[in-house]
Amino acid sequence: MRTIFIAVFLLITTPYLLSAKGKKITKIVLDAGHGGSDNGARGAISNEKDLTLAVTLKLGKILSDSMREVEVIYTRTTDSYPSLVERHEKANKANADLFIAVHVNSTPYTYTKVLEGYKTVKRHHKTVKQPIYRSIRHHETTRKGVETYVLALHRNSQKEKSIGEYSDNLTDSPGLMDQNDPQTSIIIAQYSQSFLSRSVSLGTKIQEQFGREGRPDLGVKQLPLEVLAGSAMPGVLVEIGFITNIEEEAYLNSENGQEEVAMAIYKGIKAYKADAEK
Ligand SMILES: [Zn+2]
Repeated sequence: MRTIFIAVFLLITTPYLLSAKGKKITKIVLDAGHGGSDNGARGAISNEKDLTLAVTLKLGKILSDSMREVEVIYTRTTDSYPSLVERHEKANKANADLFIAVHVNSTPYTYTKVLEGYKTVKRHHKTVKQPIYRSIRHHETTRKGVETYVLALHRNSQKEKSIGEYSDNLTDSPGLMDQNDPQTSIIIAQYSQSFLSRSVSLGTKIQEQFGREGRPDLGVKQLPLEVLAGSAMPGVLVEIGFITNIEEEAYLNSENGQEEVAMAIYKGIKAYKADAEK
């Protein structure tokens, strides 16, 4: 009986879940990366936490002004640090439709050896000259562009757990799902699959918009990111540029740059929404 139920459940829900068509998007969570004591990446003139907040607030304003039917939920609107768990809880409790995290990319430090002088040392009864080097730390990069991350598959066990906890939000008959049942976990896994494909679709549309604006499109990538693992909804993390690239840092600090970045993400969301609600 239970098997029949599961089979019927999958038959009814799978096409809907996989295509996700016809689902109205009414709540969008905007997550400005870092904040408070967590500065995020550092550039020459700015910290990541301030750029993510500035762009997120601008994006939220565009969304509220242009999509009246959508409620914008911020994980933070000030220089504060909600934990990742708190950010997810906010998104899950609101039963949001999309989770969009904004971050700024950076590159690791590189070191250049510079010759400072020589010293003389004795080796095998001979005096030899030995060079003295000093290491200079660089943070600048010529790398530039935008990339969007979605949750990597091998992190899905945590995603599934999160979906299990909030499964009331995801089904019309919450009482029917027993999270400990192996067959139920198949259903839950299907939700995950569905989130992944929708996240990739959203990420692709956002990247396309940046490409149209002339920003280098570094693509949609998968990573086991904690920030995406806890929310039971499609989600992306947009790395809006490199703070360690002097040119991009200046751009991301400018009003115009922040407006353009916010607008590109907005247009990506708009394209995704139109497609999902067909
Ligand atoms: Zn970050």
